[in-house]
Amino acid sequence: MFCFQCQETAKNQGCTISGVCGKKEETANLQDLLIFNLKGIAVLALKGKESGVDMTTEAARFATKALFTTITNANFDDNSLVEWVNRAVACKKTIADKLAGDVVGQLHDSATWFSTDIEEFQAKAKTVGVLATENEDVRSLRELLIIGLKGIAAYAEHAAVLGKEKDEIYNFILEALASTTKDLSVDEMVGLVLKAGEISVVTMATLDEANTSAYGNPEITEVNIGVGDKPGILISGHDLKDMQELLEQTKGTGVDVYTHGEMLPANYYPAFKKYDHLKGNYGGSWWRQNEEFESFNGPIVMTTNCIIPIKKSNTYGERIFTTGVVGYPGVEKIADRKEGGAKDFSKVIALAKTCKAPKEIETGTIVGGFAHNQVLALADKVVAAVKSGAIKRFIVMAGCDGRQKSRAYFTEVAEKLPKDTIILTAGCAKYRYNKLNLGDIGGIPRVLDAGQCNDSYSLAVIALKLKEVFGLEDINELPISFDIGWYEQKAVAVLLALLHLNVKGIRLGPTLPAFVSPAVLKVLVEKFDIKPIGDAGDDVAAMMLGK
Ligand code: SF4
Ligand code: SF4
Repeated sequence: MFCFQCQETAKNQGCTISGVCGKKEETANLQDLLIFNLKGIAVLALKGKESGVDMTTEAARFATKALFTTITNANFDDNSLVEWVNRAVACKKTIADKLAGDVVGQLHDSATWFSTDIEEFQAKAKTVGVLATENEDVRSLRELLIIGLKGIAAYAEHAAVLGKEKDEIYNFILEALASTTKDLSVDEMVGLVLKAGEISVVTMATLDEANTSAYGNPEITEVNIGVGDKPGILISGHDLKDMQELLEQTKGTGVDVYTHGEMLPANYYPAFKKYDHLKGNYGGSWWRQNEEFESFNGPIVMTTNCIIPIKKSNTYGERIFTTGVVGYPGVEKIADRKEGGAKDFSKVIALAKTCKAPKEIETGTIVGGFAHNQVLALADKVVAAVKSGAIKRFIVMAGCDGRQKSRAYFTEVAEKLPKDTIILTAGCAKYRYNKLNLGDIGGIPRVLDAGQCNDSYSLAVIALKLKEVFGLEDINELPISFDIGWYEQKAVAVLLALLHLNVKGIRLGPTLPAFVSPAVLKVLVEKFDIKPIGDAGDDVAAMMLGK
């Protein structure tokens, strides 16, 4: 196996024996084979379109979901991945059957390879993974594109679940997948990576519209982090439709609902706040789940990443459920909803009724809900505070949390920033500092949480609005610094989106991505002045000087 798609990759080079995340070799191989088949689907679908057989929407819908299932900490289940590969091969066959035989024969191997033999899957996978591209820089550009595409696909799938789809996104997903089967020039490959940033902005805007039209605009909310005395269900991941259906089905059952990790921002939506039995958020970010799921006592529903391996010492294996693109061996999966229907959470609810209430691990509240609409409602106050000098600088510390000790940097930065700075955040990075008492500036909290990682879009909208209000030409003239923590592929999509918006001087950590080769990094540094994080104190001093 060779996988270097996340920040925790072994030695910051690549996982080769098994994943630091717990992914086994066979699982990694099946994911590689699935990606290979998705490239084949894209090649066939685009060829079909050229020949008057347009199956691009169906092909892109499938590829979007399948890309999502390969992101870090989403699917550890080999049986499920074998099924995904079989479905991908069947999808290719459907398209190929509609094309003339001599057309298909001339296409890339990813389009013409057909098998349903599981042993052949493993053998083939070993020849089509990341290292199949020998040139380090070509590999780097292809993988930067595929990894960013996985993030885009995740956001596009969330929007699609809520009925919002865009041809522009689907067309790019196919174009990008197919591009990696061709010998393109460096300029063409860099162009596609930058276009991924543009499509990432479009996708996040589409998801924002999907979320807010379905559930309202997030609003300032104090979220309880303590527990009640009734049994509860803990829901994690990012899928708001799952959240809605679970809340509806638990109404009046005597079972409470708590969010975990990236589901925390669900508490900020008006449509969910109306449920009294949405009790608040339990615990911290994804990597703490082995301890926090244990003490929660009740069932857990994983709607998307991040699920992490269940340890032998854990007892929650019997009360955790997956759904959607998530898979874990031996864990029961809640089936997809049928057209027009809802998922059935009755088994989870029945189990919850037999469980003890969650064990209290902390008490108090945290404040969030500062997505673009809410911040723009406070715009006059914010602008006045900037003009009067009460707010000197905004620091965007969005992104991810993770296990590595070096992430303490982000807590240190939050603590060391002068009291006249505001931290804008989104994603699970916030758990590094959202329970510190950082105070407020004239009633504006010093940590403004916009929501999930996809809500980083809100931070871009806020920055663009401030640029407009202050009559600036360039977003980089604003008193804003970007200090981003990354972990998995959605964060890469967000990073590419920021580059598309011409944000310069981003600090990135805890390490720079292993999939960026020295030559590709040189391009990113020259074009965008990307830099690694350093010492927290030095970085704070530099950011306060606008560097
Ligand atoms: S997802 Fe990350 S930790 Fe897991 S195998 Fe890939 S690089 Fe390694
Ligand atoms: S913030 Fe990062 S680690 Fe957390 S779910 Fe989003 S992309 Fe993944």
